[in-house]
Amino acid sequence: MKIQKLSNWRQAHSTNVHADTNLVTPGEVDTRHGPILYVENVSVSFDGFKALNNLSLYVDDGELRCIIGPNGAGKTTMMDVITGKTRPDTGDIFFGQTMDLAQMTEYEIATAGIGRKFQKPSVFPQHSVFENLELAMRENKNVWPTLVARMTTEQNDRLDAILQTIGLKEQVYTNAGKLSHGQKQWLEIGMLLMQEPRLLLVDEPIAGMTHQEAERTAELLSSLAGKHSVVVVEHDMEFVRSIARKVTVLHEGSVLAEGTMDEIQRDRRVIEVYLGE
Ligand code: ADP
Ligand code: MG
Repeated sequence: MKIQKLSNWRQAHSTNVHADTNLVTPGEVDTRHGPILYVENVSVSFDGFKALNNLSLYVDDGELRCIIGPNGAGKTTMMDVITGKTRPDTGDIFFGQTMDLAQMTEYEIATAGIGRKFQKPSVFPQHSVFENLELAMRENKNVWPTLVARMTTEQNDRLDAILQTIGLKEQVYTNAGKLSHGQKQWLEIGMLLMQEPRLLLVDEPIAGMTHQEAERTAELLSSLAGKHSVVVVEHDMEFVRSIARKVTVLHEGSVLAEGTMDEIQRDRRVIEVYLGE
């Protein structure tokens, strides 16, 4: 599929952009053109060093995208720019067709539906798995405004579904501090899911995990695709191969190559800078 560039699209629709936008509920992510995330010609410098250098990539709604690349390639900076932690010097970052992330605060971006999983798990160790998920739900501004009794049933159902997804049903009353490293990571993914994100960014999810935990994490992230869009940054090639559909290789702040895992692994530039290191 040929992806229509955001700038082209905006130019082409500049006269009737408002009429077009009216078809979408305000605040809703407009993915009618396919992509849920547009990163276009984005550059970020730190003291003159270009961490991101004219970076462009597009993630489709419901896609699971893997991002690989050597240390310092700009992977974490890319996530910082998407979530509003770092501001781009130049370029566009849009969530759907209409939400300009560069104009939104970190809080607004999170509330709009972009969840981010950092490398270190940040669960509440003195609280049970259940309480951790419940706390995460209370943060979700979309959940509370209506009838409490009706919502409680819905919330319970959702909490139950997420427990199933993250494989912690048996640990529901276990204190989070007692969980294994892998289980803590799944709990944190569960807490993000309680916020009902449309797009989930996950930075090096299997660092420190056992082989079995990594396999379970691969299943978990794969199961989220479709319902959510997921961007996974990971070094471990076996892991990436096990979940990969489309892979983007970053190098020196730009996209070096993009394609299936097989295409990537045959790419000479990729072999030179990354796989052959
Ligand atoms: P990756 O996640 O691919 O390993 P990063 O995005 O963390 O790469 O870093 C890209 C480059 O930008 C690195 O050279 C790093 O040292 C630099 N960098 C990242 N964040 C900052 C910052 N806040 N200040 C200065 N330099 C930074
Ligand atoms: Mg990083």
